[in-house]
Amino acid sequence: MHIAELLALNARKYPNPEAIITASSRHTWSQLHDEALKLAGHLQTRCDIQPGDRVALFMPNGYPWVLGYFAVISLGAVVVPINARLTAGELEYILADCGARLLLSSASQQKELDQSDSLRRSLLMLDDPASLLAEEPNSFRAPTISPADPCTLLYTSGTTGKPKGVLFSHHNLLTVATSTAVEMGVRHESRLLHMMPLTHSAPVHVFLLGGTLTGASHVVLNEFRPDLLLDFVESERTTHFFGAPVAFLLTAAQPDVRKRDLSSMQAWIYGGAPLSTEQVRKVRDALDSDQLYCVYGLTEAGPSGTLMTPEEHRHKAGSIGRRGALHTEVRLVDEQQHHVADELVGEIQIRGEGMMLGYWNNPQATAECLTEEGWLFSGDLAWRDSDGYLWIVGRKKDLIISGGVNIYPREIEALLEQHPAIAEVAVIGAPHEQWGETVKACVVLREPVDNIEQALRDYLQPLLADYKMPRLYQQYPSLPRNANGKVMKHKLD
Ligand code: ATP
Repeated sequence: MHIAELLALNARKYPNPEAIITASSRHTWSQLHDEALKLAGHLQTRCDIQPGDRVALFMPNGYPWVLGYFAVISLGAVVVPINARLTAGELEYILADCGARLLLSSASQQKELDQSDSLRRSLLMLDDPASLLAEEPNSFRAPTISPADPCTLLYTSGTTGKPKGVLFSHHNLLTVATSTAVEMGVRHESRLLHMMPLTHSAPVHVFLLGGTLTGASHVVLNEFRPDLLLDFVESERTTHFFGAPVAFLLTAAQPDVRKRDLSSMQAWIYGGAPLSTEQVRKVRDALDSDQLYCVYGLTEAGPSGTLMTPEEHRHKAGSIGRRGALHTEVRLVDEQQHHVADELVGEIQIRGEGMMLGYWNNPQATAECLTEEGWLFSGDLAWRDSDGYLWIVGRKKDLIISGGVNIYPREIEALLEQHPAIAEVAVIGAPHEQWGETVKACVVLREPVDNIEQALRDYLQPLLADYKMPRLYQQYPSLPRNANGKVMKHKLD
């Protein structure tokens, strides 16, 4: 089985029910299947795309995006989704790195496209697929695709450095999709609401492919706005939503959230960054739902890591769960790769069939993060409680070492998030002559407060050991976040 066969299967099983619903269009599975094969034929005959070629997709979420994605995959080529918010320079870096033969794009990206001559040579605009394909004969010749063949090349968001290409096979992605469908109860009748960029691993592998595996309907929007989320849940009677924690916090803060009819929702899934115990409680109250799922993972893992169910949220909100998602193992190890005891901090390692094939053209980086036994170093530090639940304390790269002592930013962030004056917070290490690093809290206030530093010091003092206390505070109007809503700590100073 390979990914492109999912479309054919759905077109046969469910020719009429809606596959892709956007703000301005509705397409059935058979329409999507027919058009994807026509586009694949077009790419084969007019652009000479061959199996294994890389074809980049640079446009916002929408029907053309989904069409382009499946057309490229049907050719046995490798689809390279590129975040539509990247600049021309960032786009060119990725196109050059992956050696893209063709770029599929749309008018919304004209500014970036205009800035580069090299891009125009191998560009196909997909704004209006119906017109593009109106005269197209059904000339598509299906290549032989094996489950082990490469299928998708996703670039990491670069939160911790230059983006790296992460390569997945059809088998990897089918594994992740199956895990989603089973773990989150996605069925043919489900209606999945997409508002996160499809260029990231959870939105595309977990959500788009998980729903496609079961022939569910996808409601695909090209931006996240909390008011839109509430509107579309009500009007489309959606059942599943995946979003970054910040999307949940913004939705929970909507003044009319409690008046909305959200009764169709069966799963509210958050991941990609932490939500503290207190934040989970706020979100659960505002949405009036206990159907909250937490997913933890990273691009390289497909992104499958751990999963925490609604039942587990009752007692362990704030944790990332205690087991790997289906087909995934998770363990906690020290620097020597030995298991760590309960209550001690170690690095999370992940192993499973959804794991990447490796980094694109970078065997050294691959060898550095995957062991011979297939364990992936996550770079995330966590401890395990006596019930086996994992609690993230921060990324290895974000660890603050002050006077030789480790300080975990997440512990301090989780406390500050509970302070009523604080809207957003990120804790980082700032250079210090004597101690090497010292703790700095970057805060966004809900409203101006007199002498906020002293107020926060007084608040933290009984809760936090002296050596962990932030010595520096800086206020920001908002924290710099990437397209996934994740705070980019390297942009804070
Ligand atoms: P880059 O790899 O380029 O630095 P990135 O950080 O955005 O970019 P992703 O693979 O998207 O890369 O993010 C994975 C990271 O997000 C994890 O390693 C972890 O630090 C964090 N993360 C993911 N899910 C959760 C979660 N449920 N709770 C806490 N942190 C999470």
